[in-house]
Amino acid sequence: MTTAHVTCPLCEATCGLTVTFDGGQVTEVRGDAEDVFSHGFICPKGASLGALHHDPDRLRTPLVKRDGKHVPVSWDEAFAEIDTRLLPIIEAHGRDAVAVYAGNPSVHNLSTALYGRVFFKALGTRNFYTAGSVDQLPKHYSSGYLFGDGMTIPVPDVDRTQHLLMLGANPLVSNGSLMTAPDMRGRLKAIRERGGKVVVVDPRRTRTAQVADEHHAIRPGTDALLLFALVNVLFAEDRVSLGHLAEHVTGVADVAELARDFPPEAVAPVTGIPAGDIRRMARELAAAESAAVYGRIGTTTQAFGTLTSWLVDVLNVLTGNLDRPGGVMFPLAAAGQANSAPGKRRPFRHGRWRTRVRGLPEVLGEVPVATLADEILTPGDGQVRALITVSGNPCLSTPNAGRLAESLARLDFMVSLDIYRNETTRHADVILPGPTPLERPHYDVALYQLAVRNVANWTPPAMPGDLPPEWVTMLRLTSIVTGQGPNPDIEALDAFVAAQLAQRSGLEPAAGRRGPERLIDLMLRAGPYDLTLADLEAAPHGVDLGPLRPRVPEVLSTASGKIELAPEAITADVPRLAAELAHVPDGELVLIGRRQLSSNNSWMHNLEPLVRGKNRCTVQVHPADAARLGLADGEPALVSSTAGEIEVPVEVTEEIRPGVVSIPHGWGHGGPGTQTAVAAAHAGVNSNLVADETLLDALSGTAVLNGIPVEVTPTRPPTGPRAV
Ligand code: SF4
Repeated sequence: MTTAHVTCPLCEATCGLTVTFDGGQVTEVRGDAEDVFSHGFICPKGASLGALHHDPDRLRTPLVKRDGKHVPVSWDEAFAEIDTRLLPIIEAHGRDAVAVYAGNPSVHNLSTALYGRVFFKALGTRNFYTAGSVDQLPKHYSSGYLFGDGMTIPVPDVDRTQHLLMLGANPLVSNGSLMTAPDMRGRLKAIRERGGKVVVVDPRRTRTAQVADEHHAIRPGTDALLLFALVNVLFAEDRVSLGHLAEHVTGVADVAELARDFPPEAVAPVTGIPAGDIRRMARELAAAESAAVYGRIGTTTQAFGTLTSWLVDVLNVLTGNLDRPGGVMFPLAAAGQANSAPGKRRPFRHGRWRTRVRGLPEVLGEVPVATLADEILTPGDGQVRALITVSGNPCLSTPNAGRLAESLARLDFMVSLDIYRNETTRHADVILPGPTPLERPHYDVALYQLAVRNVANWTPPAMPGDLPPEWVTMLRLTSIVTGQGPNPDIEALDAFVAAQLAQRSGLEPAAGRRGPERLIDLMLRAGPYDLTLADLEAAPHGVDLGPLRPRVPEVLSTASGKIELAPEAITADVPRLAAELAHVPDGELVLIGRRQLSSNNSWMHNLEPLVRGKNRCTVQVHPADAARLGLADGEPALVSSTAGEIEVPVEVTEEIRPGVVSIPHGWGHGGPGTQTAVAAAHAGVNSNLVADETLLDALSGTAVLNGIPVEVTPTRPPTGPRAV
């Protein structure tokens, strides 16, 4: 029996886990009680790392499609196929003819996080898509214009706050998002135990709402109206107090002017939250000893995602809670954080290019995945003819997924880096698998930049693997797209990558290291704590770098060097929001998603421990709506929208607001060519078949996945005692 301490790379919480092996068999995964950040916390997904490693459906060799069927091939054959078929497309049609889609797990994988950018830069396509445009892009956009950098995102100082207002967030289930914070149940409990208050705004009475002091069941897509009304009250009652930020903020008067149009009385009938409650919420926020406002996926994947994300931080600024203990603060990660480097940085801007078909602007180097099918299906110069997916399943996770799946069949060539043959990778001509999380090293470059406490933790591979690491795969792909062939000198290429990074930081790469280890060591040495990889290797439970500290003004990189509270690139969208004040709901039904503890977006459903039990892929309906629509608990219903229709079992529950129905995303498994037997046996239904790809947040291009107008009808008449 041996044990290893690893950082779980599955979600944003970065829990420390202890894995026990018997030979090559994982016998137990438990929370690492000595981990400096998670202190023993673990969730069902982390506990399934062994099941993931041993999953018989996981790919263990490259696959190439021959006569419509995937066959196993050697790595050299797979790369030769890519070289033969991809390069001619680039040569004939240009680099934009090759699109990339990078899924969420690519951020949680050190190899793809560090070497993906090398490959993507070498490829040089403007058709770059990620899961960000079906998730958090509005927060990057608003932070970019407020603070100067899309990754300069403040996080709630949950361990010291006395008042936490959360909108569209369910951290008890998600375990935190754009906020790295293991054991949110414990952290929320601690707020209440020290006399603080937790308030949740969400159309569903989520698990988080159930443990909060207060829950407001808002109408989906109206969070920006509520937030503007809170701002309105702060100004109207003279409760604005910038405190220590006074010297560092511009645009306050502009915000005051804009907020005049959103008094609580005007907002109440649209949001469904009474004006009296809105006033009280504003007063409590202003009066709290410290307070943090936090919005997550329910606020970003909606029609006003960027305005909502902006107003969250407008409130944090106006109450003097930005950049102070107990408010929202800017983490200072040990490695790879652009805003920790000294010197002038270029202020954030977007729209440096636009998509060919719909003219949608670039944000943070990517364009909206909601238009990927348009770019594949619309003929003409610049048409996408090839696609490379990296750890993503857009056929389940992006809007109008049915149309996207059809478009993939029209591609000239497709490559997928993935450990599964799933609903997306089944279309690929070549699939390149990678090691499991237990076989690869880990350091969470992205997520420590969002952590509620400054920490650093290095994980060496817990066990040896048979597959080449993704960083080698990425370098071989880099060699192909730069015309250097499929069999480069990997060591020389890797040394070149390290030398470039070293040059930027003025350091020498460490001798005796290679791959991600060498890059992370460089990044740590260039970072603000002067750490080395050897320091982290000597600390298997992580290094605690202390609580968050104030960072304004050094963290700011706007043109003015201040927090620009009313940037035109955001406020230009306010009139569209004001028009929503006339939209008082009248019997309409809208669809929202929901996160589930044992789901990890569209993947991990092939692990028996995570799918056992009753079917979780249901449409939740309030009893009043069920009675009105003739829907019965457990019976199937047809959910239809402008994009399509799906049949889903009904779950009647008072946890959801009347006028709203909810289906979790990431389901709809199986189909020809997939190889995920467990997932197929628990297939569920793909909610993105009814998500309309034309509905976007106007500023960021992020898809509207919450607040989709739908109709729900019984597919069978309700019968017997189960009828509502
Ligand atoms: S909460 Fe996230 S990081 Fe922690 S064990 Fe679960 S999946 Fe892993």
